[in-house]
Amino acid sequence: MSAFSRPDNSQLILALSKGRIFEDTLPLLEAAGISVTENPETSRKLILATNDPDVRVIIVRASDVPTYVQHGAADFGVAGKDVLLEHGGEGLYQPIDLNIARCRMSVAVKAGFDYENAVRHGARLRVATKFVQTAREHFAAKGVHVDLIKLYGSMELAPLVGLSDAIVDLVSTGSTLRANNLVEVEQIMEISSRLVVNQAALKLKRARLQPILEAFERASAPQS
Ligand code: ATP
Ligand code: MG
Repeated sequence: MSAFSRPDNSQLILALSKGRIFEDTLPLLEAAGISVTENPETSRKLILATNDPDVRVIIVRASDVPTYVQHGAADFGVAGKDVLLEHGGEGLYQPIDLNIARCRMSVAVKAGFDYENAVRHGARLRVATKFVQTAREHFAAKGVHVDLIKLYGSMELAPLVGLSDAIVDLVSTGSTLRANNLVEVEQIMEISSRLVVNQAALKLKRARLQPILEAFERASAPQS
């Protein structure tokens, strides 16, 4: 057990990021009888109370959720498949696809750049992305040689100013790409957010966690 772990096995900490993941997780928490009593968009607090005195929510960067859960500083959390693939998933149990924050990871280029032709002719591509691991695996599997350029945001800009030939980014409606004169040329994978649970917490706090996991699973089952 790490020094972060709390002795009381009835206390739970859930790690969420602000924005779509927080908002889309609220109904799942409600299904488990948990309501968050503070709003992270208006409060500056990073530790939020719930109606259950044993359950608290911490607000962290989306890409930091797996790290908090891996080290046991949070017992469970919600993170995108994109984030989990970059993190590697070490120390994390990933029991449920929550079917929230759905989008896809795609390759996009500036309008007019002939991606297929470049790939066919074995050109070396410069690819800018936040998702270096996933991009590396994707192009390696296709046998395409790439120089990866790590960015932390605004990937759409890179091809427009000649930093890269292509980007690997998340796409939902495609309107950000269109607004920047970019074209989606290849879909790499579907993305949704997963529940992640600290492996030690799963054993030591099973009595508290199990009913919440079951409620999440029921509430996130794909409708149809
Ligand atoms: P940060 O703002 O801290 O850099 P972020 O941009 O990854 O992080 P969000 O935009 O809240 O944070 O994205 C959180 C998760 O939601 C992503 O990891 C991804 O799985 C998913 N996501 C990202 N963009 C979209 C989108 N346009 N539509 C649906 N889901 C998305
Ligand atoms: Mg974002």
